[in-house]
Amino acid sequence: MAEEKARLVDGFTTLKAAQRAVQHDRSSGKTSAEPSVSNKKNVPSVASHIGHTVMPTKHDVVCYECTYQFQFAGRVDQIHCPKCKVELDMKDYTIDGPWCESIRTGGNIHIQPSGILKDGALNATDIILEGKVEGGTLFASRWLEIGASVSIDEEFFKGRDLRVARGGHVIFKQKACYRNVELYGNLKANLKASGLVHIQAGGLFEGSLSAEHLAVGGGWPYSNA
Ligand SMILES: [Zn+2]
Repeated sequence: MAEEKARLVDGFTTLKAAQRAVQHDRSSGKTSAEPSVSNKKNVPSVASHIGHTVMPTKHDVVCYECTYQFQFAGRVDQIHCPKCKVELDMKDYTIDGPWCESIRTGGNIHIQPSGILKDGALNATDIILEGKVEGGTLFASRWLEIGASVSIDEEFFKGRDLRVARGGHVIFKQKACYRNVELYGNLKANLKASGLVHIQAGGLFEGSLSAEHLAVGGGWPYSNA
């Protein structure tokens, strides 16, 4: 197998093993692998958010009525889907307490650590989940981020892209299909990814992985074994 510390593997890659991204440590001179990501140190708090998917001037919007995808520049509270003409809510929502209503938005939803989803279907572009889920469902047309100390069954959430934040533990019992997957925390799964799987420094993947692109932040442990 390849001995060099390839961090980005293009092409159809299959990995059947536990893969841990080596934590980059500046103090030890052992880091022959320069970090491919800008992680400085292992911050044990809720760190990595959807910060680097900041909305560009033009961004993709998926209509939550008809699933038509279109581009849109700027920020508004409402927009009409060019296809089905439905007026779409584009607002962002923050849930910081008990919540039991459905939300459909082309914006984002952030369930903070104090937030408790009790009921309702949440449908948004990006969803950050840091709180409790006691009922209801979550669907993100782009990123779904699972935070630390979140406990949720896989049948209650779905996103096109999946991010496990630092400290997060996600286990899929069924085969999981996503586009892009980014791991700052742990994921145990039989995973098929049509896009990029990026195991960030400190992230852990366990299980069976089939990905179009694979990137491992901080080094490739097998070449040191
Ligand atoms: Zn539509």
